[in-house]
Amino acid sequence: MSYPVRGEEPVVIEALKVRALPEGSCDRLLEFLILYRDAVQMVVDRVWSLDTKLSKKKLHRLFYSDLMSMGFRAHHAKEVYMYAKSLVESARGNGGRKPVLRRLSARVDRYDYRLDLDSMTLTLKLHSGYEARLKLVTSRERVERFRGWSNYELVVKYDKGEFWVSIYFRRAVKPLKPRTVMAIDLNFDNVTLAIFALSGRLLKLKRFKTPHRRILTHRIWIERIQERYPRSWRFIKGVRRAIERHGKRIRSISWDYAHKLGDLVAELALKYCSLIVLEDLEKLKENGKGDREFNKRLGLWFYRRIQFCVEYEAKERNLEVVKINPRGTSSKCPGCGGKLVEDGHRVLRCRKCGFTGDRDVIATVNLYRRYVFKYSRCGVPGVAPNAPEPDEAPSGVRGNGYEVMKTTSSYMNLYES
Ligand SMILES: [Zn+2]
Repeated sequence: MSYPVRGEEPVVIEALKVRALPEGSCDRLLEFLILYRDAVQMVVDRVWSLDTKLSKKKLHRLFYSDLMSMGFRAHHAKEVYMYAKSLVESARGNGGRKPVLRRLSARVDRYDYRLDLDSMTLTLKLHSGYEARLKLVTSRERVERFRGWSNYELVVKYDKGEFWVSIYFRRAVKPLKPRTVMAIDLNFDNVTLAIFALSGRLLKLKRFKTPHRRILTHRIWIERIQERYPRSWRFIKGVRRAIERHGKRIRSISWDYAHKLGDLVAELALKYCSLIVLEDLEKLKENGKGDREFNKRLGLWFYRRIQFCVEYEAKERNLEVVKINPRGTSSKCPGCGGKLVEDGHRVLRCRKCGFTGDRDVIATVNLYRRYVFKYSRCGVPGVAPNAPEPDEAPSGVRGNGYEVMKTTSSYMNLYES
């Protein structure tokens, strides 16, 4: 098993959270959890009274021997004071009071447990040389998924008579060598996706409706309620409930959509072995479009959520994701770079060369071209030598661009509204 050095390779981290049944008596394990909690509290109390930031070295000097004399192992001690430190820092950070621990939970370093995926058992090294063996209560498939990953830390908890463990796994991501480029343009009411061969030829075009309008309806309801009870909405139970209900709908609609879309997009990208090009939303914020109103109304947060899911699903499949500044991608002609003007509903026309095309498709073409321009110039591997010159139009939109328009006339309906 290898442990990738942090910061060198991109990694995916996932937790396997399962119930665990102790084999035999659970007394020692409970004893350990109580001891652990009290030790964390002891460190919290002392760090709190010191009122100064402590380095890891200082913490070690202050607490190591005390913790060892309580019966902890070396890595237990480290976990205890680091955990206490993080508790104090976050409480201070948000102006809270000194943390008081009630729950029984312990973070355990990878040196202090053994995980056997074949027998689905976990052996924990406890205080004073004791050990506890636990059986993981879950399906084999859920565990199998992590074979070949490296596990590095776990959290064991005791809650209402049951033991739970969260085992953290990580895996280095080695991107596949892309054979095509998929550019994704996010809009208020649709997501447009185009796949280009490295030669620039358009291979596939797809469009998905977004549930943005439905989200906006709930948003408007919230605003109306808040306007009607400008001062009191927080305090009247029924009013607050109504607002919470709309908020909950917004969350479930948006996450549900983002998950589905992320999965669909990543599956398609895998089929075409695509590198995925997304708009850099941070840059979108800079260009003035991302003011507060835009943020709230048109939901930059929703774009972020979609991108998060696309990126996550892509990384799961070892696909590379690149973010490109989207500035001007829907106002410049992909043929000659001239300024585009509106020419009917969502159709743009170039004044200079007469190129006409669908607005969102043009945006994907521009994103693709910008990616090629940026990376072929830098000599980054992964782009074929025959990638088009920046001023050569991708063949998919060569000529008058109608070819592109025709293929996009039908919407893919991902989300029935
Ligand atoms: Zn033009």
